[in-house]
Amino acid sequence: MTRTWDSVKPSQRSQFPHPLLAFGAKLGQISEANKAQHAAESKSLISLAVGDPALDGNIPPPTELMEKLDAAVQQERANGYSLSHGSLSVRQAIAEYWARWFAPSLPAGTLSANDVVISCGCSDGLSMVLGAIAAAGESILLPQPFFSQYTMTCNYFGIQPVHYPCLVERNWEVDLEAVRRIVENDHEHKIRAILINNPSNPCGSNFSRAHTEAIVRLCAELRLPIVADEIYAGMTYNIDNPAAEVPFTSVADIACGATRFVVAGASKRFGVPGERMGWIVRVDPTDAGSEVMKGILNLSSRYYIPMTPLQVALEECLRTTDETYFRHAKQVLCENALYLFNALSKVSGLSPMKPSGGMFMCVVLKKEELEETMCDGVAFANGLAAEENVHVFPGEAFLMPGAFRLTLSRPLPVAEAAVGRIRAFCERHARK
Ligand SMILES: *Cc1c(COP(=O)(O)O)cnc(C)c1O
Repeated sequence: MTRTWDSVKPSQRSQFPHPLLAFGAKLGQISEANKAQHAAESKSLISLAVGDPALDGNIPPPTELMEKLDAAVQQERANGYSLSHGSLSVRQAIAEYWARWFAPSLPAGTLSANDVVISCGCSDGLSMVLGAIAAAGESILLPQPFFSQYTMTCNYFGIQPVHYPCLVERNWEVDLEAVRRIVENDHEHKIRAILINNPSNPCGSNFSRAHTEAIVRLCAELRLPIVADEIYAGMTYNIDNPAAEVPFTSVADIACGATRFVVAGASKRFGVPGERMGWIVRVDPTDAGSEVMKGILNLSSRYYIPMTPLQVALEECLRTTDETYFRHAKQVLCENALYLFNALSKVSGLSPMKPSGGMFMCVVLKKEELEETMCDGVAFANGLAAEENVHVFPGEAFLMPGAFRLTLSRPLPVAEAAVGRIRAFCERHARK
């Protein structure tokens, strides 16, 4: 048979657009279509949609990290190839960093360089773990609501997502009974792992130690590996008492036999999402996940990640960056959360959910106060972009219908300007 250009076709796995990017593109089109009106009303774009700590310079990376990165680029040796799963010394530094900050209960020396694989950001770490733990046609338990990036990863590997509920009335805790039921009914053992995300994007929740412990113990009992997206580890706060220290508990800190793959990185906590530095830390007392770890190592050599100068620079910063640096980012998020929660609580039609961790807050649309057509998150977000040139992601993008999500990372004056326009929008669309 003769080959023709008609046979050039995309693969099935490439046919899924990213849900957030699709919603983002829509908001961009709406703003573009209403450009003249926005200009006439002097409404320049305010985006509280994407959360990028590096956007405004209000959550800067540690100065030392930038200096070390500059210096590393100047050393010829640091511009060469590294091991694709990370140099021994950076993996050792990550093991020590995680043990020191987030797993102090583990006996000293439990985590070593061999338990760590570096990745091109947290999202790539999640991709490697999910790809190594589940085959095409098998399943991963995902939270609902959730960060829809996970759908992309599942689609890419042909993994079938199965969602478990998180309970709004219990500050978004995992519905443990539902998880047990789903897993016990999975007679063919298609479910290979459960993914949990704490602190949560989009929910802004932070599990208590007791709840994290309950999850880890249940998974040990069910022999269900845990994949924990802890990109917001340590980024917790209390808007009712901003001076208080709010504990964060990593799944790594629970003394228990469960097999855990903790995935995190420098993007949010060190304010450098553009540097693409993430990592996987395996906590696995029974060694049940050792073959999966070998699979992760194989996947890590798909390409050579992440840039060697960054590994060199970060290595020392992981040891030396202290609470004075981390406190600043928490203060910025807490101030924003406090302002947005209080200000939006006073807007008729909106019911903000009090955040306690991570970079986002969700706001529920009140059916009894808003026009019926505006009670849907997509209609609300699109309308807000059209009339006020303010971008927020609809809750529907995270399987949280009837709500929208805001980033807490922008400077306060930006948040204040956004609130003014959101208020005007809600007044215009109040239920008559
Ligand atoms: C931002 C974010 C990530 C992605 O982190 P990168 O290091 O930029 O890949 C992963 N998970 C959650 C929940 C996030 O909010």
